[in-house]
Parts: sequence; C-alpha cells; structure tokens
Amino acid sequence: MSRTLVVIGGGIAGVSCVEQLSELCPRENITLITASDVVKATLNFRQFGKTLQEFDVEERSARNLFRDRANVVVSQSQVVAFHPQEHYVVTDSGDKLHYKKLCICSGGRPNIISKHPRVIGIRDTESVQQFKLKLSKARRVVIIGNGGIALELVFELHSCQVLWAIKDEAIGSTFFDRGAATFFLPHLESSVPAAEEKHMSLENNMKRTKYGTSTKNYQEDAVYCCPHDTTEAVFGGALGPDWNSGLTLYGAGSQEQAQRQVYVQYNSEVKQLLDPQEFEQSNQKESPVSWACMDSTNSSDWPVYVQFTNGRIYGCDLIVSATGVVPNTQPFISCASFNVAEDGGLIVDSNMLTNIPDVYAAGDVCSAGWNPAPCWFQMRLWSQARQMGVFAAKCMASHLSNEQISMDFCFELLTHVTQFFGYKVVLLGKFNAQGCGNNHELLVRCTKGKEYIKVVLHDGRMCGAVLIGETDLEETFENLILNQMDLTPVKEHLLNPDIDIEDYFD
Ligand SMILES: Cc1cc2nc3c(=O)[nH]c(=O)nc-3n(C[C@H](O)[C@H](O)[C@H](O)COP(=O)(O)OP(=O)(O)OC[C@H]3O[C@@H](n4cnc5c(N)ncnc54)[C@H](O)[C@@H]3O)c2cc1C
Repeated sequence: MSRTLVVIGGGIAGVSCVEQLSELCPRENITLITASDVVKATLNFRQFGKTLQEFDVEERSARNLFRDRANVVVSQSQVVAFHPQEHYVVTDSGDKLHYKKLCICSGGRPNIISKHPRVIGIRDTESVQQFKLKLSKARRVVIIGNGGIALELVFELHSCQVLWAIKDEAIGSTFFDRGAATFFLPHLESSVPAAEEKHMSLENNMKRTKYGTSTKNYQEDAVYCCPHDTTEAVFGGALGPDWNSGLTLYGAGSQEQAQRQVYVQYNSEVKQLLDPQEFEQSNQKESPVSWACMDSTNSSDWPVYVQFTNGRIYGCDLIVSATGVVPNTQPFISCASFNVAEDGGLIVDSNMLTNIPDVYAAGDVCSAGWNPAPCWFQMRLWSQARQMGVFAAKCMASHLSNEQISMDFCFELLTHVTQFFGYKVVLLGKFNAQGCGNNHELLVRCTKGKEYIKVVLHDGRMCGAVLIGETDLEETFENLILNQMDLTPVKEHLLNPDIDIEDYFD
C-alpha cells in the first residue's frame, strides 16, 4: 500500500499543517484524517511586527477546503489504533493508512471536574449550542475556573445568577495580575442591558470575522459530544478567537432588561457535588450570597449543590467546568511508548518530533520539550496551535529530503492578541513575570476604563508586557523585548503618556 504523509485532526494545528505540507511537498500524497465534519481554517492572515499575528477563523467542510489541492485527501473518520513499527494507523471504518511521516494534531478535551449530568465543558461549536439550550432554563450557573473561557463566559452570561468560583485571589490569573483584574472588575457590575452592551462591544472592538457552517438543529436532551463524559467523547475543533461574538447567552430570567449578576467566590476549589437528597441529609445550609443586582432568585430548590473546600455550599441549575484542557492522546499512548509530559501532552523536540520515529505532534495535544527561548513558553492557544502546525509541516518536509531545520523565529517570543470584556488584550513574553522569581521590576500605567499597561523588566531589560486597550505599543514593546536593550536610563519615562515612545526608539 502506498505511504502518504498523514495528519490527524481537523483543528487549527492539523489544517495549518496540511496546507503547508501541500505547498512544500507537491509530489507527496497527503491525507488529513478528521473526526469532525467541519474543520478550522485561517484566512486574512496578517503579520505585524516580527512575531505578532492576527487572522480570521473560518469553519468549513474539510472536503471543500482542500478541493483545489490535488495532493490532499480528506478522510472523515476517527483514528482508533496506531502501529508505529509498521507505520500505519487504523480508522473506525477499518481503513489502514500507511504513512511515511505522521503528525498527530488531535487537540484536547475539557478537563471536567466531575462526570455529572449538570456539569458541562465547553470545547467546540456543538458543546456551546448544547450549553445555550441548557442555560435557557437556568436560574443560577456556577462557573469553575479562572482561564480564558471562564473570563469570557462570565462576561457573556445574562438573565441568570452567575457564581464564579476561582481558586486564586484575583480574576483572570492565567492572563494577568491583580492590577489588571482590578481594571476589569467594574465591568462585571455593568448595569447596561446585555443587548445594548453587546452591540457597543462588537462595534468598538470586533476585529476579526467569524464564520460558521453549522446548520444543525440542536436539541437539549441529545448528547452531541457527551459533555459530561469527556473521557469517551471526540470533540470537534476547539473554539478560538471571537467564539462568543454574535452569541447571546441568556438564562431563564427576563431578557429585556437582562443584566449581569456575578458573584465572585475567591480562593475556592470544588470539594464535592451533592444532589438535593444528599444536601438535605447533610443538614447544612446554603451559604449566603449578595448579588450585584436586585432581582435575585433566592430559591432553595436546586437540582445540584456545589460544596467548596472553604466549606461554602451553593445550589445551582448548571455547572460549567472551565478548568483547562487535557491533551487528546488516545489511542496513541495505548499503542506506543510515547514520552508524555506532566500535563499529559506528547513531548516534542525542537523539530516537533515525538520520541517515536517519524511521528510528529502539534497544537494542544503536544507539550514543548525543547529548551525554549527566554521569552517564550507554551500556552494552549489558537495562535500557538497554528504556529506549531505550520512548523511541523516544515520539519516533515525537510526531514523527507534529509535536511536539517532550525527553530522557527515565531518561537522566540510569546505573543498573543485577544479580547476580554470587550478590550483588546496583547500579551508579550513573560507577561506575568513567569520564572523571574523576585528579580524583576514592574512598571504600570492605568487609565480607568481606557487602558492598562504593565511592563516586566528583568535586569533593566524588558522581558514581558500586558497591554489592555488601544495602546498601539505592541510593536515597539515587541522590539524592545527581542533586542534586549538596557532600559535602565529611560525606565522612568517608558510609560509616560506625554512621550511618544515609538518615536523615541525609532
Ligand atoms: C471555548 C474556547 C475558547 C477559546 N478561545 C481562545 C481564544 O480566544 N484565543 C486563543 O488563542 N485560543 C482560544 N482557545 C484555545 C484554542 O482554541 C486551542 O488552543 C486551539 O484551537 C487548539 O487547536 P488544535 O488544532 O491543537 O486542537 P483542536 O482544535 O482541539 O482540534 C483537534 C481535532 O482533532 C480531531 N480528533 C481528535 N481525536 C481524533 C482522532 N482519534 N481521530 C481523528 N480526529 C481526531 C478533533 O475532532 C478535532 O477536529 C479557546 C478554546 C476554547 C475551547
């Protein structure tokens, strides 16, 4: 049987890998195996600065996406077995696909706190649709987690009480520090009705276009992706930038004057879930909550209760588990002795190669095992999944012709452009002084409601920055981090709003 270049997974890593391979290896046959019928494609890719990137995201049928690429075949199936010695994979339809080189881009699945019918994880378009249906009957939702998904959801949910439980002392600790959290907090208490606020936020801040092809009619009781049994389920490609734009997430309350009602519960982790009978037998009382808005539901008739390690107990209708992802390494790790990182990812070297010959991995499924550049570290983000998929293709192509390849420049600096609470957010390098210990200095400029800028200096040199709002400083700061100029003589003025810093460094 003829061997091809095989890529598994129709998320952004897999699709970017196939696109790049088809350009670099026009004479090779390439097969994309994807479990989901829609795949993620990037378009309007824009590079600004040396490593900063922005792009739009489109959900498309895989066959349409690669229709014009004669050397690409798409197999809509799930890989169920892997034979590394003989170099082939087996799909759920029984097909054997022999490979010369294989790239695993099978992504991740939500790290669910408990398998419970009231607990839902959000990963792909279908899980959002199912969440939306369940939410429409919910009076109170508990959101667990403090990463990007939780941040965005808390901002989007209206017409229901939202109890946001985080294990840290400040919101959004995956992305920023206490100062930035304080900048965002007033937005949780906004009294502007949801529809109006959404309109303002989209008009002001939407930079990317989001397209969708899904025409399914979703029903509440159908299990499209087994949201409470994530060990078995294969999800579609993960949602990415602007996944929540155009999405209205309303609970069971009135939609007309829908406002946000958020109560943040700090320093708390889930101890256990109790059903109503267990709660009654426990002889405990629900903990009091003071909601930001007046018309709160104070029912004591809840289908599930969440008990936290700090002893507090709250009843709710729905629990969103937004506590990160677990790499999707099955069936691969059952079939071969992969080196696996502590976070469960397949360890890859600086050529995106796993320890299994001719097997590469990219995106959320992999863990970067190389010695990283001082201002880069792995975060399971859309931008990095794309960069890794493209670079894996370059490595596969080079190795096919027995050539060496060195690390791509994009891995020199972590850059991430996103939005939270309607604000543009740019993260650069060690934006939270990660790994700097006490040996660092922070410079901060904050204009309430407008911008928050934080610079991390290490030995007088910039090693990271957080830019919230329209600061226009990202390219200048990117350069300052990359060229490691000693800023000691100018640091007093670096964030002075009266000085045009871009002009100064030109
Ligand atoms: C709600 C949400 C919001 C997010 N927001 C942002 C954001 O704003 N910015 C950002 O940068 N990142 C964001 N992320 C993270 C980002 O979406 C992911 O890091 C990125 O999409 C990962 O891409 P991937 O290709 O590695 O994996 P995935 O997108 O998970 O794709 C994996 C693919 O592999 C397929 N697959 C899995 N197993 C098999 C198998 N055995 N056989 C065949 N196919 C298989 C799956 O069906 C899927 O198509 C968000 C994630 C979520 C869930």
